Amino acid sequence: MRNVSVIGAGTMGNGIAHVFAQNGHQVVLIDVSEAQLQKALKTIQKNLDRQLAKELITAEQKEATLQNIITESRIEKGVDAAQLVVEAATENEALKLELFKKADAAAPKDCILATNTSSISVTRIAAATGRPGQVIGMHFMNPVPVMKLVEVINGYATAQSVTATIVELSRKLGKIPALANDYPGFVANRILMPMINEAIYSLYEGVAGVEAIDIIMKLGMAHPMGPLQLADFIGLDVCLSILNVLYSGFGNPKYAACPLLVNMVASGKLGIKSGEGFYSYTQGSKGLVVSEKFR
Ligand code: NAD
Repeated sequence: MRNVSVIGAGTMGNGIAHVFAQNGHQVVLIDVSEAQLQKALKTIQKNLDRQLAKELITAEQKEATLQNIITESRIEKGVDAAQLVVEAATENEALKLELFKKADAAAPKDCILATNTSSISVTRIAAATGRPGQVIGMHFMNPVPVMKLVEVINGYATAQSVTATIVELSRKLGKIPALANDYPGFVANRILMPMINEAIYSLYEGVAGVEAIDIIMKLGMAHPMGPLQLADFIGLDVCLSILNVLYSGFGNPKYAACPLLVNMVASGKLGIKSGEGFYSYTQGSKGLVVSEKFR
């Protein structure tokens, strides 16, 4: 499985391209936005520099990794020689169905089509293609070059041989795969998102401030970062989309997104990627600075 195409060059797509390229795969990184492709290449370079500084890789490995990545803005062209496609575009079901239809039409017959979706039904995505047995969830964690887990999600129609291939491939990438079945949010986000939502409710209801909520969860539960900081890191729009999938998928009001999260997304406060969320991320600032709104 040498040729891998990654659709979407955002937060996750650049990390996924980085990891495949670092492990000797030829990667085509695809995005509709040329600016996102350029930004992704810069991010990959910066992350490789960090690995180099920590002596995790050599200068030759850094160069080889960069050499293994090309960019493309046309999906049909980008997947035409792929043995594996990993889709990591925006968390929106209509968009993913359209992308999978296009990838199905243009990719070689034996190519596996994987989605990095956090919550959208792998079974419904598979049903939009003519090869549902070859569609699977390959859910990497953020930041991809650092995090070990790949949640491998079996759609209703996923062939066992395809699951076995993706599990083996994940191990070859130095990751640890864990299997889940295709129900809303799978395992990771079904458990994580209600916790993040409850943290936002605690802020909204004035139970505690941003720093107190995060410090309580960090020190009290031995989490590496608090839930509000983690939400900023994931992207508040991504969190909202996942909560909406859980809410509509289970029909249970316990998954309804906190109105504060809804408002923040509506006003473009998306966390790190927009420069502000629960914390503010201005260039050159040291340490975590609580957003002015919550001081
Ligand atoms: P992002 O917003 O950072 O990036 C999405 C990218 O998709 C953008 O670059 C956008 O230009 C591109 N895109 C949009 N429409 C496209 C199209 N038609 N063709 C090609 N590219 C297109 O989002 P992200 O955080 O990287 O999330 C991507 C996927 O990964 C989502 O399904 C998300 O649920 C999942 N995910 C995210 C995280 C996280 O922590 N952010 C973790 C695990 C999984």
